[in-house]
Amino acid sequence: MSTIYVLTMKFHFLTIFPDMISAYTEEAMLSRAKDKKLASFAIQNPRDYVSNRWGKVDERPYGGGPGMVMTAEPILKAHKKLKMKGKKVKVIQLSPSGKMFTNDVAKKIAKGYSDVVFICGRYEGVDDRVRKILKADEYSIGDYVLTGGELPALVMTDAIVRQIPGVLGDSESLEEVRTASPHVYTRPEVLMWPAKKGKKYKVPPVLLSGDHKKIEEWRKEEFGKKKNIDNI
Ligand code: SAH
Repeated sequence: MSTIYVLTMKFHFLTIFPDMISAYTEEAMLSRAKDKKLASFAIQNPRDYVSNRWGKVDERPYGGGPGMVMTAEPILKAHKKLKMKGKKVKVIQLSPSGKMFTNDVAKKIAKGYSDVVFICGRYEGVDDRVRKILKADEYSIGDYVLTGGELPALVMTDAIVRQIPGVLGDSESLEEVRTASPHVYTRPEVLMWPAKKGKKYKVPPVLLSGDHKKIEEWRKEEFGKKKNIDNI
């Protein structure tokens, strides 16, 4: 009899807002991936590693400028607690000016690494020596500025975990490689809105035809209309 070892991909979040992370990882797809032992999530709070009495994790920027900057030491100390020996680790610093995160990057990370560490910035960002010391790669999730790295880290985690074999059900993963139509319909066949005396909105007849070839063609066409989708 052969034994199958399941490799758990581990995601570490260095954040001063741990509850934001667990609120998302403890629900739905990510929580199911955790139950199946395909992914696990751990949080370290740099605030637990400050040497001042006030739990202060930020200071004014050298050279002037607006706002505050997260100090290096609490983050480095929090990182030191992670057990990384013998692991294939990718350290990611969330940054609006980083490389663009895409589904392709998600696939590569899911394939190539056992552990991912996210450094979630706040304020005006993190003292850049953290990136240098931890050899972090900077990633952006889009061309806009958010208030912190927690949402971007969760966006990346969601996209990466979906790429771990076994996480999605058969039909869901099939949907990823087949034509995933951006426009989907479900019951009822005719929707009246506003209810009772409104306009009738019908499901496109092709979807009710039972002709799978035609349906596939229709979906491909719909898919083509939708720009900026990272098809597989
Ligand atoms: N003045 C900074 C902005 C900091 S925003 C700058 O120009 O870089 C605060 C933190 O939010 C950043 O440190 C980063 O961790 C996160 N963040 C904001 N927008 C992001 C984006 N589009 N992608 C990834 N992380 C982002």
